[in-house]
Amino acid sequence: MSEKLIEFRNVTYIYETDEEDEAPSVPALDGVNLTVSKGEFLCVLGHNGSGKSTLAKMCNAILEPTDGEVIVAGMSTKEEENGDLIRRKVGMVFQNPDNQIVATIVEDDVAFGPENLGVEPSEIRRRVDEALKAVNMYDLRLRQPHNLSGGQKQRVAIAGVLAMQTEVIVLDEPTAMLDPVGRQEVLSTIHKLNKELGITVIMVTHFMEEAVDADRVIVMNAGRIVLDGTPREVFSNTAAVKSCGLDVPQSTELCSRLGVKRTVLTAQEAVEEIIKLCGGVV
Ligand code: ADP
Ligand code: MG
Repeated sequence: MSEKLIEFRNVTYIYETDEEDEAPSVPALDGVNLTVSKGEFLCVLGHNGSGKSTLAKMCNAILEPTDGEVIVAGMSTKEEENGDLIRRKVGMVFQNPDNQIVATIVEDDVAFGPENLGVEPSEIRRRVDEALKAVNMYDLRLRQPHNLSGGQKQRVAIAGVLAMQTEVIVLDEPTAMLDPVGRQEVLSTIHKLNKELGITVIMVTHFMEEAVDADRVIVMNAGRIVLDGTPREVFSNTAAVKSCGLDVPQSTELCSRLGVKRTVLTAQEAVEEIIKLCGGVV
């Protein structure tokens, strides 16, 4: 767990604006230090505009720091010649499934990345099949993406990243546009890839409930990481979470209002505590 894969060293990022008369830009990232280890599942939380997407784009050299450095597997994202290698190590999945699918058949879409890398056709076939099985979309491999649900499309997008054999997947609010069923499918797929294939996951989300199963949670505010710990450590600090404009998970809130001492994260834990409060009789 301790091999460093991604390291932010005092990273500041300022978006360039064209307008001369605009006020000087506030940094979107402001002195961020962060180390992500191999195999880790990291959730990134924060209200709108806190810098989550900017942080995500720094991880695979879509954006380069204005100041400071991002090191991916020992390579600085500031060196242009590292760009391709870094993008092979770190894949991105964005919010809108419709913007990420390029082909008219599911399996062709998944093959698109490795084809661009010049991978051998037989190896492409193997990777595409494996990736589609990993996201549970193999049976739908000959479908047209536009006939799929949002959750299915996101899983195709994830398969496309897997077929590139990336070690890290960065997902920027991957479930924000999905219905509850699609959200659940995508979430359990991401957890499975992390647990079974050892893929390192960095997932931005605005659903607090999605963060409770992560190894680690960071909360961003005004371009800075203001909280960093296990989900239980972070959500036990309700006042700090709320001061960043976020809520704690509903089960946490409910049990804290009921006076439960320990920090509860899940509905199951809430049920256990409520049964205890009722003297074991419900
Ligand atoms: P989040 O993903 O947490 O909503 P972002 O990283 O998108 O936050 O944005 C952080 C800050 O950078 C915000 O103040 C936002 O307005 C600004 N910002 C984001 N993208 C751009 C852009 N392309 N040009 C100028 N400012 C931007
Ligand atoms: Mg964003």
